[in-house]
Amino acid sequence: MVKINENFLKLPGGYLFPEIGRRVRAFSAENPPMPIIRLGIGDVTQPLAPVVISAMEKAVEEMSRKETFRGYCEETCCAYDFLRYAIQGSYKARGVDIADDEIFVSDGAKTDCGSIGDIFGVDNVVAVCDPVYPVYVDTNAMAGRAGDYDGERWTNLIYLPCTADNGFFPALPEGEKVPDLIYICSPNNPTGAAATKEQLKIWVDYANKHGSVILYDSAYEAFITQPGIPHSIFEVEGAKTCAIEFRSFSKTAGFTGVRCAYTVIPKELERGGASLNALWSRRQGTKFNGVSYVVQRAAEAVFTPEGQAQTQKAIAYYLNNAQVIKKGLSAAGLTVYGGENAPYIWARTPDGMGSWEFFDLLLKKACVVTTPGAGFGPSGEGYVRLTAFGDADATKTAVERVCNMFQ
Ligand code: PLP
Repeated sequence: MVKINENFLKLPGGYLFPEIGRRVRAFSAENPPMPIIRLGIGDVTQPLAPVVISAMEKAVEEMSRKETFRGYCEETCCAYDFLRYAIQGSYKARGVDIADDEIFVSDGAKTDCGSIGDIFGVDNVVAVCDPVYPVYVDTNAMAGRAGDYDGERWTNLIYLPCTADNGFFPALPEGEKVPDLIYICSPNNPTGAAATKEQLKIWVDYANKHGSVILYDSAYEAFITQPGIPHSIFEVEGAKTCAIEFRSFSKTAGFTGVRCAYTVIPKELERGGASLNALWSRRQGTKFNGVSYVVQRAAEAVFTPEGQAQTQKAIAYYLNNAQVIKKGLSAAGLTVYGGENAPYIWARTPDGMGSWEFFDLLLKKACVVTTPGAGFGPSGEGYVRLTAFGDADATKTAVERVCNMFQ
């Protein structure tokens, strides 16, 4: 009789978004007085940049002719040189030297954040920020690294609280357990906080000292507006011997439906006598056959001067929404964080209200959908997350409705 991976049975089972969906559907059925506006979504809404579309059209045309048709990508780790060199150039522009064979192109940062655990043993101790992007937690739970779920936490995970008191950036762990794998996401989903070089340096030094590895998710780096905030962990001295970086075109260039991302593993990064770059290369070579030629050409176009100008326009649009939300909610008397270097606004619930209670109130009184912070971990209780990915007019209307609630 086949044995299943019993770790799957321990998963609490996609509670957050299904529950939001259930509550929104139930409310819709009651004929709400106003159209419902969704500020809970984490998906982009602006179309792809024209230069990206042109690159895809050209690539499709190439695929239609025998002379220019492409099959499996034979180049380094299923990524075409043209894209790896373009990515390498974007690092170089920020003063970071990355070799082209340290770049692994994939179909998503979610895929890579979720699969990276394949190259690490199951008895590693894992630390996650709290609140957290759930993928880091659930994939470790599936692999058997998280222990058991007690209704609020996984018994074997170290939760690093990220609260208003520490500026939503984790302090080093105080207990005896030293984490081997440390997930850091900056700019952060869900809090919208972006780490400074000094903050990251503390963790880089810690990881180098203890032989840990930092899994650094910078899927939202393109939203950084403040000078001095690093876009890559490799801007921090010492990071190449302790960090892996995940990046994505999803939020940077609206590729959530196109699918393209990349992971950087420096060759200096060795653990257990092995190069992690070589292990990941072996893993990808076995389990992955690359991203389509058409999509890799689309991604390449993002790095052209026109591509940069056009994608920046969409980012500016979202960041403007973020400001509308932040300013509006602050004017209504709420305490709000994020939204400066990220498309997320992390709002404190009023009067000590619970996350779900405030979610329900906003839904019923303003017909606005948010995401309850408690769904991202214990330290998310007392917050809701709002996203800036919506339509600008709808966002403005939603904020006006929330302000009216507090008058
Ligand atoms: N990392 C973070 C922190 C995210 O919030 C998301 C998407 O919401 C992803 C990764 C997923 O990126 P991708 O679309 O490249 O899989």
